[in-house]
Amino acid sequence: MSTTLEPSAPASTASETFDSLDPATGDLVGTHPVMGRDEVDAAVARARDAVDWWGNLTFDERADHLLTWRSVITRRIAQLADLVHRETGKPHGDAQLEIVLAIDHIAWAAKNAKKVLGARKVSSGLLMANQAATVAYHPLGVIGVIGPWNYPVFTPMGSIAYALAAGNSVVFKPSEFTPGVGQWLADSFREVVHGRDVLQVVTGLGDTGNALCRARIDKLAFTGSGRTGKKVMAACAENLTPVVIEAGGKDSLIVDEDADLPKAAEAALWGGMANAGQTCIGTERVYVHEKVFDAFLAEILAQADGLRAGSDSGAKIGPITMPSQLAVIRSHLEDAVAKGARVVLGGPEAVGERFVQPTILTHVPEDSTEITEETFGPTLAINPVKNMDEAVRLTNATQYGLAGAVFSKSNGVSIAHRVRSGMTSVNSVIAFAAVPGLPFGGVGQSGFGRIHGPDGLREFTYAKAVTRQKFAPVMNLTSFARDSATDGKVAQLVTLLHGGKQTLR
Ligand code: NAD
Repeated sequence: MSTTLEPSAPASTASETFDSLDPATGDLVGTHPVMGRDEVDAAVARARDAVDWWGNLTFDERADHLLTWRSVITRRIAQLADLVHRETGKPHGDAQLEIVLAIDHIAWAAKNAKKVLGARKVSSGLLMANQAATVAYHPLGVIGVIGPWNYPVFTPMGSIAYALAAGNSVVFKPSEFTPGVGQWLADSFREVVHGRDVLQVVTGLGDTGNALCRARIDKLAFTGSGRTGKKVMAACAENLTPVVIEAGGKDSLIVDEDADLPKAAEAALWGGMANAGQTCIGTERVYVHEKVFDAFLAEILAQADGLRAGSDSGAKIGPITMPSQLAVIRSHLEDAVAKGARVVLGGPEAVGERFVQPTILTHVPEDSTEITEETFGPTLAINPVKNMDEAVRLTNATQYGLAGAVFSKSNGVSIAHRVRSGMTSVNSVIAFAAVPGLPFGGVGQSGFGRIHGPDGLREFTYAKAVTRQKFAPVMNLTSFARDSATDGKVAQLVTLLHGGKQTLR
């Protein structure tokens, strides 16, 4: 750990506070200020000052700072994982895994920003052959980031690291369930940039997020529920502030008749139950070719044997982080059972006071909430399908379109391209999230805009086009001196260039 004394963040002037609690025990983890409009505006004003410095560094200088931050987080990974574990309840190993992925994203964004965003030449075309054309991607300025609690490091980092690498400063409003993790991230970055306000945290509930949407920011990156996403868009619309919305999902995992069934079952079980099912890109529905349905079910039930939720070291599933979600999970299971679903593991009674035991339902009616709405619990709805056309049709019959998985030895990629979602893994789950060069985001009610990869870097910039005249044009088109002879030559030229039979080569 660094022993250098760095200027700390300005003390909050907010008088009200809120507590973050350990969801497994109810123990107090930390107390944080509820920041209001004034504190948020002040943070944004400091961020605006800081971007004068940060935004004017070279890509290499920014990369140096970001790679130092990456190393600091790596060296302190156990400390951060412990905080994630205490604020979310997830097992320590799972907390470490999300931090590892976030670290990889920081490194990728730092190392690739120059190549993706730096000025590059563009062909100026025959009509404008006298012009040298370039495009560069400039930082927008101050980015507001609003994050959820389920992956409190990995998820906001998809916006924070990419926005910073592009040259913006960031004001981050973490979830009220994980404010300590957000503060830890901002404090560690503050050390790296010697006390400058390049990445700040504002803590509080929904009203603090609303204040950030209304502040003088240049873009707002939101990750959370679609319900809140609509409020965020409405608030941002007042100042024409652009938004990225990373919202919920109802992802399916498709199993074809030629799939490796033990591997598909392992993936479905982990995709559905890991992090107690509280994963936006988690598996919620499984569509299995009817020829292998029984074998798949037997396999997944065998693998689920012994898997349980709890707070002891033998439990691989933690608590439900947000207590109000317990009622949602119970209502989805009850609705499915009332409509005729079969319970093969767990069931509505598996929903406890803090924990939900793994639950698998089959033959779940497609109009039940267990199929149509995000459950966000360790539950799987597994239904047989006649063929892959039906699997794709049912997968796409959703308001969401975030991600998904396909298990098939011969047709995986072609099936993947027929699924209307932002991301699909073939013969694995969630692999795309760990490939930093790939864009992450959804369609439909899962939101829009992209984090990660080149698209994620460009998301926090504006394209700047510049043309430089290299020599006087043969025909000066942008002058009142242009005469009818020139107009005639222009007509001839365009006919030559574009009037012929169209070929695609
Ligand atoms: P949420 O919508 O309840 O809260 C998200 C954030 O918005 C929190 O920081 C909250 O304080 C803030 N907020 C609440 N009201 C606000 C308002 N009026 N204005 C501005 N901000 C406000 O979501 P959550 O329960 O924290 O997270 C779970 C949801 O997030 C799930 O739907 C999950 O699928 C989704 N999620 C999506 C992704 C993705 O990348 N697509 C990743 C993780 C989680």
